[in-house]
Amino acid sequence: MAEKKLNGTVIVTYRCNARCNMCNRYKAPSRKDEEISLDTIRKLPPMYFTNITGGEPFLREDLADIVRVLYEKSDRIVISTNGFFTDRILALAREFPEIGIRISIEGLQQTNDEIRGLPDGFTRGYQTLKKLVEMGMKDVGFGMTVQDRNAKDLVPLYQLSNEMGMEFATASLHNSFYFVEAKNIIKDRPMVAENFEHLVNELLDSNSPKKWFRAYFNHGLINYIYGQPRLLPCDMAFDTFFIDPYGDVMPCNGTKDKEVMGNLNEQSWDELWNSPQADKVRQKVRHCDRQCWMIGSVSPAMHKYIWVPAWWVVRHKAKFWTKDKYSMYELPIVRDYRDGKVTKEELDALSTCDMTAVVNNGLSAASQEVLKTRSGEEIVDADIKEQEKGRKE
Ligand code: SF4
Repeated sequence: MAEKKLNGTVIVTYRCNARCNMCNRYKAPSRKDEEISLDTIRKLPPMYFTNITGGEPFLREDLADIVRVLYEKSDRIVISTNGFFTDRILALAREFPEIGIRISIEGLQQTNDEIRGLPDGFTRGYQTLKKLVEMGMKDVGFGMTVQDRNAKDLVPLYQLSNEMGMEFATASLHNSFYFVEAKNIIKDRPMVAENFEHLVNELLDSNSPKKWFRAYFNHGLINYIYGQPRLLPCDMAFDTFFIDPYGDVMPCNGTKDKEVMGNLNEQSWDELWNSPQADKVRQKVRHCDRQCWMIGSVSPAMHKYIWVPAWWVVRHKAKFWTKDKYSMYELPIVRDYRDGKVTKEELDALSTCDMTAVVNNGLSAASQEVLKTRSGEEIVDADIKEQEKGRKE
């Protein structure tokens, strides 16, 4: 029998050149010499989908070699990037025109540049996307993490992605060791939800079945920002995994602390995946109360429990035909908050935000050690300078 293919995310580095307000990973980079090697990547199992992410993956100078190895074991590869290193992205896309590229854009120009802290970030990201499309790349799109500051840009950005013929992926604020963050929280839930509601209606109004399912995903984001249980079970670590720069295999990137199933530098894939430790983590996933709604854990669930989103789509498309649009108030919690039956404090308490938490950044002892003498920003800036010098020589 053919081996079952998995859904994998490979975090190739924790180094990042952006300075996003909702993610502190840039303050906690991995040490370059410890980052996942090609030999470890070769040990990964066959995958039907692979996401390559960071940090900023294009800071890995051997990214093309990584993609080459992953190509042999994956049906589809998508790289998530902040889009800053245009030349590097275009060079990779020329070599691998079949891969997908998702560039994080956090709003229209001013909002994006304030949130991401990258000089000229919007223009660079936008130009990179445009050039990729001009090159004939098919699987190109925006990714946006919605928060109070950029919610108003949600629909305009979706419209821009449509004009450019691109995919549009959304997320909302999450807290976890991966983001080195515990204090993210949506403050004005009705305002943010209303923007999602407009987006859901735009998506349902399209002629694309893929967008109708995206509408369901965004409906789930409204549910999530009101702190409610996930609309679909979370099956991370069963047929989905994340691997970090140290070779540690984890169920996901949403846990408070790093949950390790095993280490691929030291073990074979089969040994790791079938170990008692991996089962222990799967048990934790079964009882996990973080209720994340990120595409990495929702997309596999939407495929597995397809009848749930499919039925939702059928009902809402039918509504559309009678000119009755989707309303966020179909979620009981949204009505209860509007009607004063639940307070903001009660909703805040349901979120993963913890203002007193000491955040575990998931770094190795050696990577932590470097941070005693230099900040993450200094380390990465010096690294980029060195890389650019090497490229010019
Ligand atoms: S809900 Fe799922 S994705 Fe989120 S932290 Fe728990 S196990 Fe991970």
